[in-house]
Order: sequence, then C-alpha cells, then structure tokens
Amino acid sequence: MSGEGTTPDYFAPESVADACQRLAGEEGSVKVVAGGQTLMLIFRQGFVQADALVDISRLPELSGISTGDGRARVGATTTYADLAAHEVADRVTMLGEACNGIADRQVRNVGTIGGALCHADPAFDIVPPLLCLDADVQVASEGDHRRLPLSAFLVGHMRTDLGPDELLEGVAFNLPGPQQSGSAYEKHAAVDDGWATVGAATLVTVSDGTFSDVRVGLTAVADTAVRSPAVESTLVGNPVTEDAIEAASEEVTADIDPLDDLSGSAKYKRGLAPTLVARSLTTATERARGDR
Ligand SMILES: Cc1cc2nc3c(=O)[nH]c(=O)nc-3n(C[C@H](O)[C@H](O)[C@H](O)COP(=O)(O)OP(=O)(O)OC[C@H]3O[C@@H](n4cnc5c(N)ncnc54)[C@H](O)[C@@H]3O)c2cc1C
Repeated sequence: MSGEGTTPDYFAPESVADACQRLAGEEGSVKVVAGGQTLMLIFRQGFVQADALVDISRLPELSGISTGDGRARVGATTTYADLAAHEVADRVTMLGEACNGIADRQVRNVGTIGGALCHADPAFDIVPPLLCLDADVQVASEGDHRRLPLSAFLVGHMRTDLGPDELLEGVAFNLPGPQQSGSAYEKHAAVDDGWATVGAATLVTVSDGTFSDVRVGLTAVADTAVRSPAVESTLVGNPVTEDAIEAASEEVTADIDPLDDLSGSAKYKRGLAPTLVARSLTTATERARGDR
C-alpha cells in the first residue's frame, strides 16, 4: 500500500465481483478509475489521495448500451462518444446533444457516463437529460446489488449516495414511446466547448395540441442538477403555444439556486435560465409535433 505523495497500488479487476472485492478488501483510500478524465486531474492537483486505484475501464460487463422491453441500459464505462453514436441518442435527441456539446473529442472518447454520475459535478451536461428520463442507477458491492433513482443518488454538491465499497454498474431509463414526444438540450457556455453556464434539457409529449407530459432538467444552477417542477406543472394540460412556453419558462427561477462560478455569476445564471428553458422547450415541442 502507498501513502500520501507516493504512487498508489494499481488493480485491473477481471469482473465486477473482483472489483467489488478489491473495494471492500483493500486498506486505506481506494478509488475507482474509469476514464480518468476527472480523477487523474484532481489526483495530480492534490485534491484527492488514494492508496489504491481499481481500474474498471476494461470490464466488458460495464460497457455498452442495451435496449429491450421499452428500456435502455447504459453501462457505467460507456463513453460520451459511444452514447452519442448509439440509436438511443437518435431516439432521445437530448442525450446526443448533451454528449456532443461536452469539451473536445478526447474527453468525449474517454470520459464515461458512470464517471460523470459518480463525480456529481453540478455543471455536468449529461445529468439533466437523465433526470428528465427518470433514470435509475444500479450499484454493486461485494455480494449485493441495489437500484435507486438517479435523483436520490445525487445527494449534494459533488456528493452521491455511493458507499466507499460500492461500484456504479450503470444507468437505465424508459425510452419515450411512439406517441408525439420530443426532446432537446440547450447549453450556454462562456467559451466554445466550455463548461455550461446553464444547460437545460427538456422532454415533452403532446396530445391533441396539448402538453400531456413535460420534463425539464437543468445543470449549473444549484448544488446538483435539478428538475423544474414549477415549469413542468405550469405547462401540463395547456394548449401548445409559444406564449404558454414563454410564460412557463419564467417559473424556472422557483426551482434554481445558482452560485457564482467560473462560468457566470448567480445573477447572470438566474436571468439566463428562463431563456434556455424556453429555447429547449420550443425545439422539443417542434420535434414532438414532427415539425423538425
Ligand atoms: C478538459 C475537460 C473539459 C471538460 N468539459 C466538460 C463539459 O463541458 N461538460 C461536462 O459535462 N463535463 C466536462 N468534463 C468532465 C467530464 O465529463 C468528466 O471528466 C468525465 O465524465 C468523468 O468520467 P471519467 O470516466 O473520466 O471518470 P473518472 O475521472 O475516472 O472518475 C470520476 C470520479 O468517479 C468515480 N467513478 C468513476 N466511475 C465509477 C464507477 N463506475 N463506480 C464508482 N465510482 C466511479 C471515480 O472514483 C472518481 O471519483 C470535462 C473534463 C475535462 C478533463
């Protein structure tokens, strides 16, 4: 075992069970590493120490996307690029839009969905679309598996419900059905390919010219990514009009509590959020109606 300032021990487990055994059995601080895009950066910067690293990046059990019975399951080590290229991202447009707007090709090719969910940075792009889909996460530990809603997994600023001996296996959600549904992800960043100042995902279903289901998720506006029940409840049951979208989008300020960060001040984010929600809802609604 290694101490602070020395090289951690490195393990490449051959199965999820093997990885969980390592997490439970090793002494000291043991960290899972997937794509390493965040972990290695904060490790080098001294924000995190590890006595041992458990590298899950080559575990076939955790990689890839499967569909069946109206659901999609995304393995924890699936990369942004893998998800964006999959037919699930064609069906659920906001997923592809969120993935393709992240940083550069290197980050998208190596960074994983599981790594993003476990790091739980409140400005990550992939989380709001998954919240809109009411996704749940599957977690493994030695001899056990559990499942919980993603909204319960994200407990605070860069904090999750994951125990130190637990591994995120994947995330799953119902695919929107063949009814008139559409989705979109709108992001504003201070610089090209930069972190979101605000990001808004929306998923709408339209029936007989009326909003029958509306989901709105946001990033970079609170301690964690959040849904906006105020916008959702204002729109559901209303006729599909531009005015209804504009008015409902203003309600988002009830559900956000932004802080100043490097991408923008709290005041700027508060002013920007309704505009991005309206833009995202407009695009999602046009897609739901087959207009684009
Ligand atoms: C230059 C740069 C720009 C970026 N820009 C953006 C951006 O614009 N938008 C955006 O959303 N993100 C951005 N990111 C962040 C990127 O999304 C994350 O770095 C990436 O998703 C993390 O995934 P990873 O596989 O590399 O995780 P890792 O770095 O390997 O791990 C991250 C954390 O999660 C834990 N972990 C990972 N997988 C698991 C698992 N299966 N079970 C338990 N714990 C696990 C690790 O122990 C660690 O604590 C950027 C990153 C970089 C380096």
